[in-house]
Amino acid sequence: MKVAELYRQKSFVFSIEIYPPKTQESLERLKIKLKEFRSYHPDFISVTYGAGGSTRENTHELASYIQNDLGIEAMAHLTCVSHTRLEIETLLEQFHQSGIENLMALRGDPPSGKNHFQRPSRGFAYAVELIESIRALNGFCIGAAGYPEGHVENPDKEADLRHQKAKVDAGAELLVSQFFLVNEFFLKWRDRLHRGGVRVPIIPGLLLPSSAEALFRMSKLCGVSIPGSLRAKLERFADDPGALKEIGWNHLEAQTESLLREGIEGVHLYALNRLETVRRFSQLIQPVSGRHDTYSENPEKYSIAENSKIPMTV
Ligand code: FAD
Repeated sequence: MKVAELYRQKSFVFSIEIYPPKTQESLERLKIKLKEFRSYHPDFISVTYGAGGSTRENTHELASYIQNDLGIEAMAHLTCVSHTRLEIETLLEQFHQSGIENLMALRGDPPSGKNHFQRPSRGFAYAVELIESIRALNGFCIGAAGYPEGHVENPDKEADLRHQKAKVDAGAELLVSQFFLVNEFFLKWRDRLHRGGVRVPIIPGLLLPSSAEALFRMSKLCGVSIPGSLRAKLERFADDPGALKEIGWNHLEAQTESLLREGIEGVHLYALNRLETVRRFSQLIQPVSGRHDTYSENPEKYSIAENSKIPMTV
C-alpha cells in the first residue's frame, strides 16, 4: 500500500527509520531484530540509502524483506549521489519488481570535506529533479525531506522553504522533517508551509538524544539547535551512559507528549536500528491510538502565532 493512503485512512501513523548495515552478517542479524519490531506495530519502515558501496544494495534487500517477508509497508530511500538518470531508472524498475511502492526521494549530502553538492554527470542536482523523474513513472508514492530550522547549506531561509514546497508541487505526498529538539521550530515551520499552500502530511522526525558526542556532531552538521538546558545536562553526564540515556528519554518523552497535543499526523522515529528505542517509544504514543483531529483537518486550531513562545517542555 502507498503510505499516503495510510495517512488518509488513519489519524496517526507511526513510522520508523532504519539504516542498512555494511556487512551481510549484520544484515542478517538486523533482519532477525526486525521481526521483533513488528510487535510494536509500525505502520511503515523506511530504509536509508548510503553514499555508496554495498549498503546501497542492502537498502534494496532490507526494504524488500520488510515489504515481502515481514508484511510491513516499506519505504526505500534513494539519493541523487553518484547516479546518472539511467541508473536511477534501473533502480526504480528494481524497486518496482520487488513490490516496493514507497520511496523517500533525496538529494543526499555533499561528499565529506566538500561544502557543495555537485550534480553527478548526467544526473540530478536537487531532490526536486529526482521527484519529477519518479513522478513521470507514476507508480510510486514519494516522500521528501524537510527542515524545520532550514537546510544547513542554504542561508536564505525563505528560498529554502520555497524549495521544500517545490518538492510537494513536483509530486511528494508527504514531508518528513529532519530531527529537531525544540518543538517550536517544527510547529512554526509546519504553519509556514501550510500558509504557502502545502497540503500534504508534514511529519515530525524524532530522535532519542542520548549520546552527547554524537548529538553535538550531528546537530552541527545538520544545523539543529540544542536547547541550553539539554546541552548542559548532556555535558555534565557525558561519561555516564546510564544517566545520558535517561536525560535523552526525558527529553524525547516531553517532546513527544507536547507534539501529540498539536494535531500531528504521525511520527517518524529515527530508531538507529535499536529495538529498545522502538519498544519504549511505542509506549509513548499509545494514547493516540484512538481517533483525533489532525492538523490537516483543522489547521486553525493547531497553528501558532509566529511570535508566540510555546513553553519549552524540557
Ligand atoms: P534538496 O531538497 O535538493 O535541497 C538541498 C539544498 O539545495 C537545500 O539547501 C535547498 O534549499 C537547496 N535547493 C533545493 N532546490 C533548489 C533549487 N532549485 N535551486 C537552488 N537551491 C535549491 N541522506 C542520505 O544520504 N541518505 C538517506 O537515506 C537520507 N535520508 C534522509 C531522510 C530524511 C527524512 C531527512 C530529513 C534527510 C535524509 N538524508 C539522507 C539527508 C539529506 O540527503 C540531506 O539533508 C541533503 O543535504 C539534502 O537532501 P534534500 O533531499 O533535502 O535536498
